Formats: sequence, structure tokens, C-alpha cells
Amino acid sequence: MADISMNRLAEGAAKLGVTLDSSKLEQFSIYYRDLVDWNSRINLTAITDSEEVQVKHFLDSLTLVSPINAKQCHGCRIIDVGSGAGFPGIPLKIVLPDINMTLLEATTKKALFIKQLFEKLKLKDIEVLNARAEEAAQKPQYREKFDIVVSRAVAELAVLSELTLPFCAIGGFVIAQKKGDIRVEMEQSVKAIEMLGGKLSIIEKVRLDGLEDERYLVFIEKISSTPQKYPRRPGMPEKRPLK
Ligand code: SAM
Repeated sequence: MADISMNRLAEGAAKLGVTLDSSKLEQFSIYYRDLVDWNSRINLTAITDSEEVQVKHFLDSLTLVSPINAKQCHGCRIIDVGSGAGFPGIPLKIVLPDINMTLLEATTKKALFIKQLFEKLKLKDIEVLNARAEEAAQKPQYREKFDIVVSRAVAELAVLSELTLPFCAIGGFVIAQKKGDIRVEMEQSVKAIEMLGGKLSIIEKVRLDGLEDERYLVFIEKISSTPQKYPRRPGMPEKRPLK
């Protein structure tokens, strides 16, 4: 296949304060080709145009680089809950090689895609966990063990809090990538976040050239331990959100 230009990504990343050298751009190019190739067999994404993938998947994932760097998080543990085809976890790992990354994904085919991709990209200190968040978060090796929990496009905030806060160590943060009008789900999540040991911290508006829709990073601080009964059994957080 002919080389695919990653210029849009390089320019957009520079505006986010991220410099991508030729080897990182090559890694993103391999990622793009693999995504499109696997997408013809399993449903990974509705977005396949090169420019669109560069903006809506790669750059959107990289909007987390600056907040993660601000936490001075070298060598820290990060989990991406509901990673799908690897967003935002794999772009973050390419750009921040020092972090220890776990990608959690319930669908086996997607988890297989993620695994073969990070092996092909020769990324180290990265693992994929093919499991549901409700079950993985009850395991001692994952419970309250992560400095930062990230998640994009998985569930409304009240549900997402139950799927993410149990993974977060006290003093750490959940950073949820959200789009659209989030006022109502923010209001409806306040109680759930409190019950789970969290505190809504700040909301940052994300600006990316070429994207009309409103995107936000919602920061939730982990201030106390999550009661052991959360998360409830698989499906319950979504069926009966804590409110
Ligand atoms: N984060 C990716 C992105 O932004 O492109 C994927 C978003 S996709 C809409 C949501 C993903 O979360 C799906 O791949 C789904 O299998 C996964 N997921 C949903 N609920 C989950 C759960 N309880 N535990 C683990 N994965 C879950």
C-alpha cells in the first residue's frame, strides 16, 4: 500500500504541544492501515477516511496528553476502560512511552485487534484485558491500582463513574472524554460520583481544528475508597444507574 500522509496529525499534534518524530508518525500510519484492514472483517469504527481518522481518533485521543503530563505521571499506571479499537489508550502510549498502559475491552475481537497492533508497534509496558469492567474492577490486582483512568465514548457519566472509579487509586483521577451537551448527565452523575468515592473536579473544553461538535474532558478526583459492593454485577450499572 502507498504511504499514507500523517501531515494532518503532525500539524494538529504540534498545536496540542506534542511533537511527533518520523518513527511515531510511522507507528500511527501502521495503526491507520491496520484499523482499515481489520475493519473490513470486524466492526471497529465508522470512520475510515485517513484525514478523519487523524482528527477524530488520533488527535482527539491526544487531547489527553497535556493533562496527563500536568500530573507529572512518568511511569504511572493508566487504564483505558472500553478501549474499542484502542482509543485513547494506544495513541497515548505511542506518545508517552513511559506510562504503563492497560487497555480494557469486553469484546474479544476488539481485544485481539488491540493485542496484535501493540505487538506490531513494538510497544512495551502495555497489556490488553479482555473483560468487563464490572468483573475486572473486583479483582485485587486491578482494584484501586491506577493513577489515571481514561475512557472515551463508553457510557453516560453516572454509569461510567461506576465502571471507572473502582479502578482509580485514592489521589488519582478519572478523565472522561465527552461530547455534546453534557449538562444533564453531569447533574445526574453528582450523587453516583460521591457514592463511589469521587469528586467532580474540573471540566475542560477541548478545541480541535476541523471539529464542529463540542468536546470536553471531565476530571473526577478519587478522594476516598470505593465501597466493595461497586461495581455491581455486569450490566447493572447501565440498567440501573446510581442516581
Ligand atoms: N473508547 C473507544 C473509542 O472511543 O473509539 C471505543 C468506544 S465504543 C463506543 C465503547 C466500547 O466500550 C466498546 O468497544 C464496548 O465493547 C466497550 N465496553 C462497553 N461496556 C463495557 C464494560 N462494561 N466493560 C468493558 N468494555 C466495555
